Amino acid sequence: MKFSIALAAMVFVMTGPSGAAESELNITRAGTRPVNAAPAQNFTGSVQVEMLHTPVGAGRASAGIVSFSPGARTAWHSHPLGQTLIVTSGIGRVQRWGGAVEQIRVGDVVHIPANVKHWHGAAADSAMTHIAVTEALDGKSTDWMEQVSDAQYGASPAPVVAPAPAPPLQGQKLFGDIAPKFAQLTDEVLFGDVWARPGLSLRDRSLVTVSALIAMNRPDQLRGHLARARQNGLSDAELIEATTHLAFYAGWPSAVTAIGVARDVFTQPRP
Ligand code: MN
Repeated sequence: MKFSIALAAMVFVMTGPSGAAESELNITRAGTRPVNAAPAQNFTGSVQVEMLHTPVGAGRASAGIVSFSPGARTAWHSHPLGQTLIVTSGIGRVQRWGGAVEQIRVGDVVHIPANVKHWHGAAADSAMTHIAVTEALDGKSTDWMEQVSDAQYGASPAPVVAPAPAPPLQGQKLFGDIAPKFAQLTDEVLFGDVWARPGLSLRDRSLVTVSALIAMNRPDQLRGHLARARQNGLSDAELIEATTHLAFYAGWPSAVTAIGVARDVFTQPRP
């Protein structure tokens, strides 16, 4: 009985309600999609396009990764049904006709309404990559116009936000008065250089640092680094899990000490 219901459901899924065999998943593997230079008549500078999806059947959304070298940009254009841009690396610029040049960065999402004349591209001194999601109307997704002149492109972008005043650096705050050179090394080399290197995320750097301090039974330094780890995206549950794990490798007493410190730190509100 169970089997025949499952079989009936499977046949339904495989053929679909209309009977058309359109239910297969289509997975294109990373690294197998072609990357092509964008056509020069619609772009300035070096621009590479990797199409992720082109609409099939009644669908009308396309998606592509567009990579702009520094200074490269689209021509002025509009989209009959609008467009969404998701910045995945670098720093770029976007402008609608009559508006300010806006700076865009990793993680920013720009929605361009239907039929709004605009351009997008990289900053002058940084490459920029975005994913573009665009819907086509009657098979057409873009109306191309004139190129963006150097004068238009070079208009200085509006500041994103006023930079916040820098907080006092950690080393300076903790022992700048008694050990200025050590404070400078702590702030400039340890936190300013090593912690800032792109090879590991801040979250992962916090996890290995906290682990080392737990293993070495260093509750004073652990206190500050547990607070930092929470700022860097580790949950309290993850930090407790790491401590439990380390009990088996670093010794029970070290883990017990760490739990005591964590109990104190976790009473503070999460950043
Ligand atoms: Mn566009």
